[in-house]
Amino acid sequence: MSECIHSIPQSSCVTYLFKYKIKDSPTCSCKRGEQTTDHIIFDCELVEKERDRLKAAALRSENWPVSKHTLSTNIAKNLKKFTDSLSFDKL
Ligand SMILES: [Zn+2]
Repeated sequence: MSECIHSIPQSSCVTYLFKYKIKDSPTCSCKRGEQTTDHIIFDCELVEKERDRLKAAALRSENWPVSKHTLSTNIAKNLKKFTDSLSFDKL
């Protein structure tokens, strides 16, 4: 996982949000890849519905896919909602 940029508050850091939720298993339940932060945010088909909301929020001011930096700053609140809405026990 990538490291947080130091100027970003821990609470809105992508890595931090996922730190305690993503399991250690390298393969995601969707079997399409490793269960990394990037996979969950951009690729995983199990969270498509949740991602659509995050994407809609991002597209108001950015292009999709957005950078990690944008996720951690401009749309940090939406990212938090996104991660809160995921059922990690299904992933
Ligand atoms: Zn997946």
